[in-house]
Amino acid sequence: MRILLVLPAAESVRVTRETRSVPRRSMLRFSVLPLTTVAGLTPRRHSVTLLDENVEPLDLDADVDVVGITFMTALAPRAYEIADAFRARGRTVVAGGYHPTFLPEEAAGHFDAVVVGEAEGNWERVLEDIEAGRLRRIYRRPEPCVPAEIPVPRRELTERTARHYATIHAVQTGRGCRHACRYCSVTAFHRGAHRSRPLDHVLEELRGVPRDFMFVDDNLLADPDYARALLRAMVPLRKRWVGQCSLEIADDPELLRLARRAGCIGLFIGIETLSAANLEAVEKGWSDSAGHLGRIAAIRRAGIGIVAGIIVGMDGDDTGTFERTLDFLDRARIDAVQVNVMTPLPGTPLFEAFERQGRILDRDYGHYDFRHCVIRPARMTPGEVQDGADWIYAQFYRADRILLRFARSLIALGPAAAWVGLRLGLTYRYDNRRERIVGRNPAGKPVRVPAPAILEETDSGILC
Ligand code: SF4
Repeated sequence: MRILLVLPAAESVRVTRETRSVPRRSMLRFSVLPLTTVAGLTPRRHSVTLLDENVEPLDLDADVDVVGITFMTALAPRAYEIADAFRARGRTVVAGGYHPTFLPEEAAGHFDAVVVGEAEGNWERVLEDIEAGRLRRIYRRPEPCVPAEIPVPRRELTERTARHYATIHAVQTGRGCRHACRYCSVTAFHRGAHRSRPLDHVLEELRGVPRDFMFVDDNLLADPDYARALLRAMVPLRKRWVGQCSLEIADDPELLRLARRAGCIGLFIGIETLSAANLEAVEKGWSDSAGHLGRIAAIRRAGIGIVAGIIVGMDGDDTGTFERTLDFLDRARIDAVQVNVMTPLPGTPLFEAFERQGRILDRDYGHYDFRHCVIRPARMTPGEVQDGADWIYAQFYRADRILLRFARSLIALGPAAAWVGLRLGLTYRYDNRRERIVGRNPAGKPVRVPAPAILEETDSGILC
């Protein structure tokens, strides 16, 4: 069979036949791992093509037999549009990913079959059933897959478009997370469990990727003993990589040292909020907000840059939150930031809570992209949350701040980490300008906050 695997894209960044040009935001594109993994599960007698709408136009008239589409909630409207178009031409369409897993009945209204949960074991059966003419609506295996079943992704299928990505070499050491943050779809999808791939499988895969690559685990430290063994074994490989983990890494000096020696130059870390009450409310109280500055300083002292994930619009936030957050990001020497508006994704405990409280104002899934406020916040208007989130973005990615951070990181972290920070900064700035994001400080203070002076980190880890 001829199989087309599709990653849909939001309208603002989608490449179409009419627009053709690819938005210059490659630093924010790094993984089509769901597609390359599904391709890896596909028996070689079938031909497979991957298509990412972020970098290529999708031909809805493509001559294929089966179309597989993976999507998160924000991309559900586009995924349904694509599925409806192919289905109208008699093609078999199959859904997979987080949103179809959480809302399989909804997805089944647009697709011939829906894979619930992980692809391993399900996708192979879907293909067999299509060939045998006995396709079912829902495919769900009773147990999660055994990590040894996870195939090596077929990265060669993305080489054609590799120039549009920060890297096509995304490696996953495990899936899920043992924490239970109430807004997190990862832990909801994996039901609060974490499983690691066999270490020798991961090391074998790492030997086959270039020096620069990326770990895409949602929490690389989910199993600290495994992480320790992995990092130790990676030291002789002389790699250079970025990844994602929780702030807890700062509490384990040995792990931190090992990460740096194994080639880590940057980590995405969900700081989320400066408020202890906010953290408690989303069951992330273990990430003690009073210790944020010290922990961040420890990570930077190890030579590792930090991209912070911040959530605004949480129940404890008020109009002063945005200015306090920007000030914190400056003082903590954060290299890049991703600001997420509090968004209850279907399938998470947060969604159920907001639903119960009648606080969901907007049901257009296209707005569930963490850039729109779809709920009634507790202490602000939705417009204030939206303005404030945009304001942090616009202020943090001002040209003077980007240059200042680059100079500072060059001294503190070295050229590789500083270069990544610079490129990320310029990419976010480009995105802000392309989408005309300016924002407004809802606290009504002067919009232009002066950039901080260049100060050195002290030995005590306290930033002055
Ligand atoms: S630590 Fe991160 S990955 Fe784990 S549950 Fe919380 S938000 Fe999700």
